[in-house]
Amino acid sequence: MRIPETMRAVVKAREGRGAELQTLPVPEAGPGEVLVRVRSCAICGTDVHIYQWNSWAAANVAKAYSGLPRILGHEFSGEVVGVGEGVTRVKIGDRIAAETHLPCGDCYLCRTGKGFNCQNIRRFKNGVYAEYVLIPGFSCEKLPDSVNYEIGSMLEPFSVAVHGVGKVGMVGDSVAVIGAGPIGLFTVKLARAMGAAKIFASDVSDYRLDLAKKAGADVVLNAGRSDVDVVKAVREGTGGLGAGVVFEISGNVKATKQAFELLRKCGTMVMTGLPSEPLVLDAGTDIVWKAATIYGIHGRETFASWEISKSLLASGVVEIESLATHRFNLFAEYEKAFELAEKGLAGKILLLPE
Ligand SMILES: [Zn+2]
Ligand SMILES: [Zn+2]
Repeated sequence: MRIPETMRAVVKAREGRGAELQTLPVPEAGPGEVLVRVRSCAICGTDVHIYQWNSWAAANVAKAYSGLPRILGHEFSGEVVGVGEGVTRVKIGDRIAAETHLPCGDCYLCRTGKGFNCQNIRRFKNGVYAEYVLIPGFSCEKLPDSVNYEIGSMLEPFSVAVHGVGKVGMVGDSVAVIGAGPIGLFTVKLARAMGAAKIFASDVSDYRLDLAKKAGADVVLNAGRSDVDVVKAVREGTGGLGAGVVFEISGNVKATKQAFELLRKCGTMVMTGLPSEPLVLDAGTDIVWKAATIYGIHGRETFASWEISKSLLASGVVEIESLATHRFNLFAEYEKAFELAEKGLAGKILLLPE
């Protein structure tokens, strides 16, 4: 395949709201690197923060990335079109998705098998909302034949949900999923597949709660409505006990406090949502006397979460294509796509380069 000299890319050029379409040189694969022709991208919550340039973006972008200007986006899939010296993991023509957190390989956590939470974690040199992207060869994950590019571009966030559910057994148990964004919806599907007996899902969007219901939730609760008491509803729906497993995925401080309240004694709390402000808990009641187990979930467990995700999708045990509710052209419609993402009236939003 002939690779052009220039490509279109959606670039976060400066601080402040928005992004712009630019023409940039197509990078070349150096040692250990792979050039990928992007076939499908997805929008993540962090991309929305960066697009909006809210306080999270202002505080974190310089620290987490190499600063601006930078091509937006990190969730994607594509076709390998160039491999640098020393890359053996993939070859030209392979269909791939990729891990976006890059471990250093040298720190204590990397040396003790916890590279997913490396102390010096890095990201791709540049984002993926472009026609081509350069990534390290070791981060590539080949897609199973039955996983198309659109599903492939959801593998990275799906694997976060897989990481979370892998912490806890759910067979015959009651499960509450707080926050029905894409990771919450993936979690509902996974909980169902793992044998949860009763699944509650809460959110402030009826659109998302409808998706949660279709994904397998038994009871959906709109926490934004004054006549809905999420804690009471979960307790009543579990014979007064509370949910045995709670996934806190909303990152909302009030919802997180409620998540601890509705957790059953000796239950397990799995936290993936990032609270935007400090969280105050009654640690005695909510954790100590409850004898609660709490897990924090950061990204994917590399590469176990990816392997599990690929086999769940390839075998058909879990289906996620129906959660991709909207598709937009990456270069012509990205603004429309971000406006929809901000409203929250969507499952996963895909951006397609062609
Ligand atoms: Zn993401
Ligand atoms: Zn490290």
